[in-house]
Amino acid sequence: MIRNPRLRNREQANNRHLIDPYPVHTLKRVDQPTTRINEAEVFRQHEQTSGFYRAGRGDFGEHMQQEYRRFVPKYPLSGAMVSMAGALADLVDEPVGMGAAGMPDSAVPKNMSWAPMGQVAEKKAPFTDNPEKMARHIKETAYFLRADLVGICELPVYAIYSHQKQDGKPIHLNHKYAIAILIDQDWHTSRQTSGNDWISNSMSFLAYSTSGFIACMLADYIRRLGYPARAHHAMNYQVAVPPILLWAGLGEMCRIGDIVLNPFLGPRFKAAIVTTDLPLAIDKPIDFGLQDFCAKCKKCATECPSGSISDKDKVMYHGYEKWPVDVDKCTKMRIGNKQGSGCGVCIKVCPWNKPNTLFHRSISWTMRKLPFARRFGVWGDDLLGYGKPDYNHKWWLDLETINGDLQVPNSSKNR
Ligand code: SF4
Repeated sequence: MIRNPRLRNREQANNRHLIDPYPVHTLKRVDQPTTRINEAEVFRQHEQTSGFYRAGRGDFGEHMQQEYRRFVPKYPLSGAMVSMAGALADLVDEPVGMGAAGMPDSAVPKNMSWAPMGQVAEKKAPFTDNPEKMARHIKETAYFLRADLVGICELPVYAIYSHQKQDGKPIHLNHKYAIAILIDQDWHTSRQTSGNDWISNSMSFLAYSTSGFIACMLADYIRRLGYPARAHHAMNYQVAVPPILLWAGLGEMCRIGDIVLNPFLGPRFKAAIVTTDLPLAIDKPIDFGLQDFCAKCKKCATECPSGSISDKDKVMYHGYEKWPVDVDKCTKMRIGNKQGSGCGVCIKVCPWNKPNTLFHRSISWTMRKLPFARRFGVWGDDLLGYGKPDYNHKWWLDLETINGDLQVPNSSKNR
């Protein structure tokens, strides 16, 4: 088993022209995402319509409003991660009126010689006008910063939120390109968890905070090359992530509602985005047979503890043809979970949630290429016991902060 998800595979090591850690060059590329999108019907969403925002506002009652404030920090590790992610909230774009190292202009010493932090450089850097070379360079830079997968697309206008969550102000974003950065939530931990125990939120925030950290640095780097760029991460989005992932060739929409599923990571990742005007060659959407696979599998719908995921057919919703999901039920489950912190059972049980080993890459290839094998794939997944927690290797501590005290919860699997 490859424990380090960042280890590049042997194929890449032997082919220096391959820059991606996963064999994305083997995927079938298509002109349109496999999810039908009726662009005339897609409207730009107000970010305050999200389930979590509504919970924090009190739309689901006082108890949920209180739980919303503690459902991540009630577990000490996810609390540490959300603090770090929060520190990145104001580092997404060039600071207004700030100088070097984030100091106010008035406080910057006159003899300071380096470029002010985060500003778009006045002169464009040499060698930045070739879109093919720059796309390759930006991907290599993101991988150097420890991204797991990267894709690039033109930014669809309908992916831009209409209004900000923080202050409700209208969003004016006119960047041409979007760079999507995926971070794996860790297979080693995913194998052990039930999906809704005490490590669940930490897996999410590992990927939220890391992808946000990389996006903020990448956006700052691009601004230093002389082009506008803004990072978008869990603590400060101006764009909806799923349509960008579809167009950037990083996955297909799956049965788990608005979730995009990647052929190498499954749904076990979180993403951050950089939008920019730096000229970049774009990727194309991918088709690995997921629409057919999800139509047959339905494992997430069966296992979802809140019954939020439908086992029925797709419907047209806000211009997307997708499987419906009950966002309110899902939000209440994740916030109100008394047996753990958060919930990701759908991610845990998905047959595409596998390690990057030769055996699993072979199975994945078969599922992608041979439609008749897909039913056997779901059956074999159950037979081999994937989807069940493996607490024999559990590494984390079960703890819950209650009224300021750390306690061992009744649901603890500590051994
Ligand atoms: Fe699709 Fe099955 Fe994964 Fe659900 S569990 S997203 S139906 S492949």
